[in-house]
Amino acid sequence: MVLSEVDPSRVKAVAFDLDGVIYIGNRLVPGVSTLLETLKERGIQTFFFTNNSMHPRPGVHQKLAALGVAIPLGCLYTTAHFAGAFLKERGLKTFHGMGTKALRVEVEAYGLIHTEFRSEAILVGLDPEFDYRKLKVAMRVYFSSPGCRIFACNRDSTYPVEDGLNPGCGPAIAALEDATGHGVDEIVGKPSPFMLKKLADDWGLSFGQILVVGDSYASDIAMAKTCGSPSVLFSRESRTDPPLPDVPLVRHLKDILWYLD
Ligand SMILES: [Mg+2]
Repeated sequence: MVLSEVDPSRVKAVAFDLDGVIYIGNRLVPGVSTLLETLKERGIQTFFFTNNSMHPRPGVHQKLAALGVAIPLGCLYTTAHFAGAFLKERGLKTFHGMGTKALRVEVEAYGLIHTEFRSEAILVGLDPEFDYRKLKVAMRVYFSSPGCRIFACNRDSTYPVEDGLNPGCGPAIAALEDATGHGVDEIVGKPSPFMLKKLADDWGLSFGQILVVGDSYASDIAMAKTCGSPSVLFSRESRTDPPLPDVPLVRHLKDILWYLD
C-alpha cells in the first residue's frame, strides 16, 4: 500500500530536507555523496529545502559546498529567502522580524521595510539568540499595529544537531502567541505547500514528479501529502520513531533508491 504511493516512472526530482537528512549540525549524513552521485547518473534532479531560517541562503549554500555537496544556488530553497517573496506577494510593505539578522536581510532584499514599532506583520524565524527582550519588542510591535498579522517560517518544535536536539522555531512562536493572544496567521515553510509549489513552478515539475525526503513527519511528509507528492521518511537507526502506516520509512539514505528503481 505504502510502496505504491511512490511511482518510480513518474519521479523526475528528489527534494531533500537539510537538517537531519543531508547534515546534522556540521556533519554530513553518511551516504549523502553516493546517493547524490547515483541520482545524477540517473538524470534525476535534486533540490534542497529547509525550514531553518537562521542563515542567509548563500550561507547555507556555502555550508553545503564545504561539506562536499556542490549544487547550483537555484536548487536551494530556504524559508528566510522565500519569506521575502511570500510577504511581498501578500501586499505587505513593512514587517518586524523576530528572528536572526539573516532573516531580516533576506526579507529586506524584497523591498520590505523592517520596523521596530508599527508594522503590518511580524515574521518569526528560528533564532538561537531569542530572548525576553526580542519577545518584548515583537509584542509591543503587535499591540501598536492594528491589524498586524503574524507569520512564521515554521513551527518545528526541534531540529537535530550533533549532540542531540535544539529547540526550533515553534517555542518562540508559542511565546509570542501567548504574549499577544494572536495565533499565527500563516506558516511560510513546511508543512505549508508554498515552498514546494514555488519549486514546482520554477522548474516546470508537477507535484507527482517530486519525491520529498525528510526526517519530520509533521513538516516534510505533511507538506508532501498536502501537495500530493510522493514522500519517504528518513529516520536514523538510533531513533525510535513509531512505524507510520502511510509513508515509507528508510534507515539509510541509499535505500531511497528502492523507490526509484
Ligand atoms: Mg529535518
